[in-house]
Amino acid sequence: MRAFHIEIVTPDGLAYDGDVESVLLRTTEGDIEILAGHSDLLASVATGRVRLIIDGKPRYASASGGFLSVKEKEVRLCTITFEFAEDIDLKRAEKAKERAEAALSTVTDDREERIAKAKLMRALSRIKVATKK
Ligand code: ATP
Repeated sequence: MRAFHIEIVTPDGLAYDGDVESVLLRTTEGDIEILAGHSDLLASVATGRVRLIIDGKPRYASASGGFLSVKEKEVRLCTITFEFAEDIDLKRAEKAKERAEAALSTVTDDREERIAKAKLMRALSRIKVATKK
């Protein structure tokens, strides 16, 4: 498969900068796969698993929020958080999941509920990616 360049950035800095053959990720409109030569696109990124194909092999990560842009063959993923599977602290994610579930059971307004739900989604995505489920 033909490779293309992708830059993945978070508020912490550059998470990945290199060539891939495919990027599969979850957007707010559904899953999307980008291959070489994809037409221009701007998509809003949801919390979930990202699969990169690098030298024919899949590499998985968890991402949350932000956007994916394809412009004149330049592919850029600007996301709020991004962790490759091997960098995910599973115990931390499991604790975060427990805290988010506890918070969800005691929320008193919509804002608290939105925050707790978003935390739960991030924790579940990290657990899924770290345990390869
Ligand atoms: P926690 O309560 O454990 O901090 P959180 O969902 O509130 O979880 P975020 O605000 O999404 O954490 O992330 C803060 C920073 O910590 C980001 O840089 C993110 O990549 C990193 N991070 C969060 N959870 C993990 C984890 N389980 N393993 C590795 N990095 C993590």
